[in-house]
Amino acid sequence: MGNFDAFESALFAEARSMTDWNARNKFCPSCGSPVYSLWAGWKLSCSSLLPWADNTGRKPCATAQGLHNFEHPRTDAVVVMAVTDESGEKILLGRNKPWPKKFWSCLSGFLEPGESFEDAVKRELWEEAGVRVWNVRYRTTLPWPFPSTLLTGFYATASSAEPLRTDLDNELEDARWYTREEILRVLNGAQDPSAESSINVPPPTMPAGVLIREWAHGGEGGPPGTSGKREDTWTKAF
Ligand SMILES: [Zn+2]
Repeated sequence: MGNFDAFESALFAEARSMTDWNARNKFCPSCGSPVYSLWAGWKLSCSSLLPWADNTGRKPCATAQGLHNFEHPRTDAVVVMAVTDESGEKILLGRNKPWPKKFWSCLSGFLEPGESFEDAVKRELWEEAGVRVWNVRYRTTLPWPFPSTLLTGFYATASSAEPLRTDLDNELEDARWYTREEILRVLNGAQDPSAESSINVPPPTMPAGVLIREWAHGGEGGPPGTSGKREDTWTKAF
């Protein structure tokens, strides 16, 4: 995914998500009858509704009513958050337990039913790092078809004076604030790779990579008055 341009990436994401969704959903969630695919795979409907279906002795499927007689492909939104402190000079990064050694990135998590993106950003940062955030701003989106995710990138602000906690949901191995100078050293390849403190961050084709680079180079999420100088790495790449 990281090597595709925007057009190829969108084609692949659509094809993979649609194939996966059709392959996984074989039965009506209402009555258990097999479903059939229509509209070239973009909808699934209950086979008990077909004119030749034999429904003797069965209650009519509840999906026979109104718009409920179709199942549509799903998209599961993930929020990816670049949290900077009030000065705009520090960014919060974390490490998930299964990640490769030295890999650090923005915190992220799935949107829950009934949540706005803003609420999801606030909840996830509280759960994963014990951080309360405000000033949530949308920045970028990337379809991520494994199997049907939409990565959405946000900026938010928090106080770096408050303690970080990773024991609330135990998802992160570690979380810490990095200074702009530290991140610029990483991006400019100026770290000593053998040093204990050296780290890797996501590529500029991923939302987290866009947010980290844009902030580090003085764009959105930076100190007050700098948000006009947007790096636009992601847009530029495509
Ligand atoms: Zn049914």
